[in-house]
Amino acid sequence: MKVLGIDIGGTKVRMGIVDSDFKVHLDQQVPTTFPLYDMLEKEILAILDEHPDVERIGIGTHGFVDSKKGRVVYATELLPGWSGTEVKKQLEQATGRKVEVDNDANVAALAEAKAGVAKDYNRTVCLTLGTGLGGGVILDDYVVSGGPNGGAAELGHMILYPNGQPCPCGHHGCFEQYVSGTALKRRIKESGLSYTPRELFIQADHDPKAQQLIKEFTSDLAVIISTLQAVFDMEVVVIGGGVSESADKWFGLLEEQLENHLLNPIDVKIAQFGNEAGMLGAALLVLK
Ligand SMILES: [Zn+2]
Repeated sequence: MKVLGIDIGGTKVRMGIVDSDFKVHLDQQVPTTFPLYDMLEKEILAILDEHPDVERIGIGTHGFVDSKKGRVVYATELLPGWSGTEVKKQLEQATGRKVEVDNDANVAALAEAKAGVAKDYNRTVCLTLGTGLGGGVILDDYVVSGGPNGGAAELGHMILYPNGQPCPCGHHGCFEQYVSGTALKRRIKESGLSYTPRELFIQADHDPKAQQLIKEFTSDLAVIISTLQAVFDMEVVVIGGGVSESADKWFGLLEEQLENHLLNPIDVKIAQFGNEAGMLGAALLVLK
């Protein structure tokens, strides 16, 4: 079977045709333009015209998604006009194909759980440390997602420090404000350093201030993983996103910190997929 996997982000939409063996037959990107639904339908119909053997369509998108209804409950101004869009309903009518929609972090987690570094595990939690903190939870074949507010598995907005750093979600002290790439930038600035996050990790061997920051970062990440273990009892945690690219500089410290925090040992792995995770995971939504 061939399916179309689509990853919708604020600047580009990536579309790929993937078969049952996870082989990618087409992989293309177009800039995100608005109105987004009209653009999406047009692009999809053009692909289906050329590839009529595509049987189903999976979509991963930024925003809160009611995955049962395939409806975007809420998307930030990154995707203006996208909130409230009945993506599944409209696209099924327009294409005659089965369509599934989920949040981009959830589908990236699905890619790792089914075809990536966690494929030999049954219970996987993925943390994508990028601009924000994306979370994805796959328990057996079940993607923990959706809900009437599309808010399940929004791990980035669990609270680490009550009354802590303000978060765009309206709360204070969310996980996302301490271990994302953006959070690292804030922590670096507050310490009076002028590194980029990548430089921070490189400088850690010589700069005690940088070393201290990385200790605080890994300590927070260990507490976060421990909290998630108490909820999900996962077998593996997969860490992806920009911050994971410097993992060789902080992975050892994280493992040390985890020894103090975990109820039981678990495996921690660095994500196998990069930017392609969203497109592959979206395809996997409909490849089951
Ligand atoms: Zn938040």
